Amino acid sequence: MKKFDDILAQLEFSREDLIRMLEAEGAERTALFSAAAARKEAVVGKKVYFRGLVEFSNECSKDCLYCGIRHSNAKVVRYEAADNDILAACRFAWENKFGSVVLQSGELATSFFIDRVDSLVKKIKELSNGELGITLSCGEQSRETYQRWFASGAHRYLLRIESSNPELYAKIHPNNDHHSFEKRLECLRLLKECGYQVGTGVMIGLPFQTMGDLADDLLFLKRIDVDMVGMGPYIEHEDTPLYKHRDLLKTKQERFDLGLRMVATLRLLMPDINIAAATALQAIDPAGREKAVKIGANIIMPNLTPSAFRKEYQLYEDKPCLDEDADQCRNCLEARIELAGSEIGYGEWGDSKHFENRRHD
Ligand code: SAH
Ligand code: SF4
Repeated sequence: MKKFDDILAQLEFSREDLIRMLEAEGAERTALFSAAAARKEAVVGKKVYFRGLVEFSNECSKDCLYCGIRHSNAKVVRYEAADNDILAACRFAWENKFGSVVLQSGELATSFFIDRVDSLVKKIKELSNGELGITLSCGEQSRETYQRWFASGAHRYLLRIESSNPELYAKIHPNNDHHSFEKRLECLRLLKECGYQVGTGVMIGLPFQTMGDLADDLLFLKRIDVDMVGMGPYIEHEDTPLYKHRDLLKTKQERFDLGLRMVATLRLLMPDINIAAATALQAIDPAGREKAVKIGANIIMPNLTPSAFRKEYQLYEDKPCLDEDADQCRNCLEARIELAGSEIGYGEWGDSKHFENRRHD
């Protein structure tokens, strides 16, 4: 069997190597984390970039079996934040030199929704003299819609594959055309063709998921050549169908730790991409995102959603920062990032180096 240190020193990794890295414990786990930290610093540097997250609507036409704001959850009070509130949050991001914002919502494909996102993108560009970078995370849309939003100024898009194993995907989504694995893959292709920096990712610690699945997820990310990844632990929500399988889950602490090992392993596999420290890590461990930054992540998404709406955007239980307002978030983040030995890339878009490298190939 290969020595673990020899595995870490490689530039290419087999499925078996990846599984060993994901299972690393004790001294091997420490070695994995320090190799990933060193690789991160050498390739993308010490900077961490902020993306102000605005969860502008929880209206959703989908019924993903894991998600607290799924269409069929009648306990959720549906909201659409007013333009003024969304723009005020973006202005806060701009004035505090966050560099970029992420507009996230449930998935709708009505012309009203498409027009609204389009007009928000244009208004955010206007209010910031074109300075704020805009990432969208509004689900599966047509090529025409993705093109239109790109033309209006959005330049990154997040759409998680959730699991790259079609069988597992089918177990965590309703079995119908509106929740098709193929469609999701097609959307990732469309986004790339439209010119976006594309971000995807998976949930870690899902019921039925194996270490082999997670290793395959990492190989999938590499194969489709993504620019950015956001992945975090799956956290059960009691008002969802997947909750009935909670007995199959690893403990939250185990899912958290697996999340960190996924981040570190991905940093070694794809050294020049942007990797977000997922909010779901912070839901399990208050310093979770900072721990992820230490071992490979370089993006943090402080929540700028107007506080009145936060409790209605509970994708999973114990989602953090329920009653914080935006400036508290910034203060607490800054202190913690310093602890992690990083610098904040103020006022910079912090685009994925991988995207730049890909364009110059
Ligand atoms: N509607 C959009 C964006 C909002 S959901 C979309 O689905 O792409 C954003 C992400 O939240 C999803 O991609 C999913 O990975 C994550 N999520 C949803 N429910 C979750 C849960 N119970 N635990 C952890 N992450 C969850
Ligand atoms: Fe809707 Fe996204 Fe939740 Fe699925 S994961 S139900 S698309 S908000």
